[in-house]
Amino acid sequence: MPSPAPLQCLRCGKPDRQPISRPPFPNELGQRLVAEICSECWDEWKQRQMLLINHYGLNVRDPQAREFLVTNLRAFLFAEGDDQAEIDPSREGDVSW
Ligand SMILES: [Zn+2]
Repeated sequence: MPSPAPLQCLRCGKPDRQPISRPPFPNELGQRLVAEICSECWDEWKQRQMLLINHYGLNVRDPQAREFLVTNLRAFLFAEGDDQAEIDPSREGDVSW
């Protein structure tokens, strides 16, 4: 497999970044992530996603949970929307959404 062309990452703004090795979603969002986001920022998102899943006790098979994560992904990587969830330890176990 030829190595993918480097990109300038939309999130961190650094040139000559390594893209994500393959689309993480089988849709337009997945294509966009490969085209615009570097693998390091993607790794940062995956860490944050784990925090969100643990913090909110998300079931990733739940469509509502997936939508919540995609909304946060867009806010985190593309700075879209302003509804990025806060991880507030004082509200542990007291989250309704
Ligand atoms: Zn980046």
